[in-house]
Amino acid sequence: MKILVSACLAGENCKYNGGNNRNKKVLRLREDNDVILVCPEQLGGLPTPRVPSEIRDGRVTSEDGRDVDAEFRAGAARCLETARRELPGLAVLQPRSPSCGVKQRYDGTFTGTLTEGPGVTAQLLLENGFRCIDAEDLIEVWEGILIRKLRIEERDLLRDFLYEAIFIPEGVEPPAREIVERPELRIYYEDFGSGSADHCLVAEAGGCVVGAVWTRIMDDYGHVDDETPSLAISLVPAYRGKGIGTRLMSGMLTLLKEQGYKQVSLSVQKANYAVRMYRKLGFEIAEENTEEYIMVRRLAGC
Ligand code: SF4
Repeated sequence: MKILVSACLAGENCKYNGGNNRNKKVLRLREDNDVILVCPEQLGGLPTPRVPSEIRDGRVTSEDGRDVDAEFRAGAARCLETARRELPGLAVLQPRSPSCGVKQRYDGTFTGTLTEGPGVTAQLLLENGFRCIDAEDLIEVWEGILIRKLRIEERDLLRDFLYEAIFIPEGVEPPAREIVERPELRIYYEDFGSGSADHCLVAEAGGCVVGAVWTRIMDDYGHVDDETPSLAISLVPAYRGKGIGTRLMSGMLTLLKEQGYKQVSLSVQKANYAVRMYRKLGFEIAEENTEEYIMVRRLAGC
């Protein structure tokens, strides 16, 4: 995939203070993708180092009070030219920057206060139909599939992915989709994002979400204790058996380990083909009944 990347994320010393925002996940993108580096602020003619700037009342202003809006917008226009020429499938940008931030930026008071909304370059790219994400939401791009964190406004997708996670043995009629409204299933997705262990990664192909893995601490079938998140995973049928589930799981295990969790659990029907994948990923059977396993993957010390 062609990917447009904020140059500071790749280790270029183009940041306002002369440093960079070197990011290991972004550096790994270069192994399998065609990465195009841009620094909009340098492209707009600003020197490095430079006085930091923020967007105030719609104009980019430097901390010493100078209006640098024209330079920032010129840099954004140069990036858009590059994007139109190269047609990247994705732009991975530096979070919270007045140029590159996608979800948020600083609010113009130079007090470290954040506000919702993109920087000027991200905004221009988004308005012109280019797919942009903040680097902190990137997990990996693998064989053209983007693995990233779920955006909070997408959380209703979990209802659909929970339905896809229901194991239906061969020859058995699938249940009605309303089954996910049952109280024992609603706990998997209701108010997702409100709990500290609510984490979700999605797989995106051609702009569509085709798979999800998510965790929360809940009293579900896979619950082992109140410190262990339970995990659910599913893919839309056309994307099963292609290794995407393993990439999602690996990304989630790394994320949970970084968050300091000691283990993660799940429940799975014994007849489900996914049992093999869970074993390969290091899950072990902690409990079982006639139909199901509860499996646990230890994270501490791995
Ligand atoms: S303009 Fe973008 S690429 Fe350049 S230093 Fe700022 S965040 Fe990095």
